[in-house]
Amino acid sequence: MVSHEYFQELISMYALGAVGDAERKQVQAHLSECAACRKSLRQEQAAVNTLPFSVAPVEPSQETKLKLFARVDADLAQNHAAHVPQRAMKQTARRAWFAQPVFAFAVLALVALLAIGGWMVLQNLESPEQQAIASIMNDPLVQKISLAGTPDAPDAWGEMYMVPGQSRAVLKVGGLASLPSDKGYEFWFFRGGEPQPSDVFTVNADGTNTVLVNARDKVENFKGWGVTIEPRQGVEKPTGTIVIVGGL
Ligand SMILES: [Zn+2]
Repeated sequence: MVSHEYFQELISMYALGAVGDAERKQVQAHLSECAACRKSLRQEQAAVNTLPFSVAPVEPSQETKLKLFARVDADLAQNHAAHVPQRAMKQTARRAWFAQPVFAFAVLALVALLAIGGWMVLQNLESPEQQAIASIMNDPLVQKISLAGTPDAPDAWGEMYMVPGQSRAVLKVGGLASLPSDKGYEFWFFRGGEPQPSDVFTVNADGTNTVLVNARDKVENFKGWGVTIEPRQGVEKPTGTIVIVGGL
């Protein structure tokens, strides 16, 4: 007779789909009569479900990883022992519940977890700008400011996301035309009516983009913002068409 403690240990593997047929049936039978294990399963499933969709890196719990490692370790040992009398193996019609398929599933689950971990590392290394953008957008103190297109660019819109105390912000724009390669959209921070130059950006084929814009002071010290069309390398004072503006 298999104990409740045994199933408690198996639940995280079950949630990952890392158990064999026989085990799955055992777990399902036990779940139907054990509320504590049903609760554990809901928690494990919630954790598993967050894995592929998270923007921020989510590590599988240390406990889950240790359980998986221990499982693979134990199964390797069992598997190795089972291989010694190879003829006996073949003759064994009724294999123990912990035989090969379980080992294979556990290895697959472990590989999947490591792959997810590696993918997150890659994501993080790949684009520091994306990471900085996500960090501002996810900050609990983030403030959103709507910017509008001017009569020269009536379809244009902008949204600025800023966190007080920082000297850069996230700018989302849309409805902007593609520019010749020697031109760019330059962002401006206004203080006391004086525009201070920020970054020059381009837009995607659909007229949108999300970029980091750097200010020469903390973002909360500016009360107005704008976008103009300028030479690609940027200018110190606005000279071109104003396409987006906003102010407090
Ligand atoms: Zn139970």
